[in-house]
Amino acid sequence: MRTLLLRLALAIVVIGLLIPQDLKMPVANADRGSYHPRSFWYHPWGPSGTHKGVDIFAQRGTAVHAATGGWVLYCGELSRGGNVVLVLGPKWRLHYYAHLDTIGTARFAWLANGDPIGTVGATGNAKGKPPHLHYSIATLLPYPWRIDGSPQGWKKMFYLDPTGYFADRGLLRNNLRKARKITAMMRITLQERARKRATFTSSFHPSWSASPSSLKKPGS
Ligand SMILES: [Zn+2]
Repeated sequence: MRTLLLRLALAIVVIGLLIPQDLKMPVANADRGSYHPRSFWYHPWGPSGTHKGVDIFAQRGTAVHAATGGWVLYCGELSRGGNVVLVLGPKWRLHYYAHLDTIGTARFAWLANGDPIGTVGATGNAKGKPPHLHYSIATLLPYPWRIDGSPQGWKKMFYLDPTGYFADRGLLRNNLRKARKITAMMRITLQERARKRATFTSSFHPSWSASPSSLKKPGS
């Protein structure tokens, strides 16, 4: 019986690890300029010592979406976090959204990637500061190899750097956009060149077609 339960528990853990995460920036229209690049683990940081998440700045009322799907464990008001939403997501990771102006989901709701969480605000200990979303990711399965010599560095086995996920995605998207632009430019240049060659050749001999597919040397 005990081994059966153990196997079942292990299976549940493995299934959780296999659920794809596909993390997205949770604040509408935010980009890499919306947060400080060293926001994660910034220190000294008030009573908590180090900053265990990222502060994404936006106007009050800006939509906050689920960075990844999951199960809402808690919605409500905390003294430090203000209006918060806590979601259990793929890979046994907790996603914490804090200082919300309004909460747009309910406790025990199942969220898909991009579903509403609430809006950006300045509640809790962010009161009087510029509105921002405090977003942090904590893993329930510790990653001890991530521990380093920084203040409270041992806690890095639980707290993951969300900016790593945003930066990679942003970079990838930018590079894709650049590659697409270059391909389009190359295509236009090639078409232009083919057209010029076609008109040039046909000016010599009217029987040579102007279509780029028949751009062969005469007689070949
Ligand atoms: Zn913060």
